[in-house]
Amino acid sequence: MSKPAPRRALPQPRRANALRRPIAKGVSAALVTALASGLGVYGFSQATSASATAPTPVTLTPLVVAPTPVKAVTDGYALASAEVVARQDALETVRKEISAEAARLDSLGRFFFPAVGAIGSPFGMRFHPILHIWRLHDGVDIGADCNSPIWASLSGTVIEAQRGSSSGNYVKIDHGIVNGHKLVSAYLHMNKILVQKGDVVARGQQIGLVGSTGLSTSCHLHLAVYQDGKGTDPARFLTKG
Ligand SMILES: [Zn+2]
Repeated sequence: MSKPAPRRALPQPRRANALRRPIAKGVSAALVTALASGLGVYGFSQATSASATAPTPVTLTPLVVAPTPVKAVTDGYALASAEVVARQDALETVRKEISAEAARLDSLGRFFFPAVGAIGSPFGMRFHPILHIWRLHDGVDIGADCNSPIWASLSGTVIEAQRGSSSGNYVKIDHGIVNGHKLVSAYLHMNKILVQKGDVVARGQQIGLVGSTGLSTSCHLHLAVYQDGKGTDPARFLTKG
């Protein structure tokens, strides 16, 4: 009988396991820490342990959604539109004030100075520069540039707009009764007439261009005023305060 060979003792893994286990545990612990830290860094979760060395968790800031451009533009248009309306209202108010003031000045018979220039030859007897005789100068001469505007001194109705041999191109306006007197004004020597007989004109409305037509030596506006049918000094009305 032979005795069975004694079993050779198998190598015990205990030692190896004993060596590996702590390493495995260490790796695992390190991995957990790393994962926890990493996840914390990327903001997917809070670190589970508040260790002194753990990085400060960063929380992602939610994306702020800006107002849509369309709404911004719409709001802009609304603001601009409101401003335009406000300005139109303000202009309309000013227009009404000017209109009311023009009506008030009309009622006072206060003339709108009819051309840009100073009064040269006054109303009264004078030695006529062309005719070389003494006679009444029945108006005032306003030294104004050729083709500069001529404005109606008061509102009224155009009763004459034509060419005369000595008056040249002229316009006559009936202002009706002003301060108890019938007033008519006339504008002579125009280069061009811009209104017609029958037209209703406003105080300050342009009625022609300065010229030197008719009995005239140079461009100027001869303004005549008839009160109750009689020629009177226009300066009275031009300077009326
Ligand atoms: Zn004159």
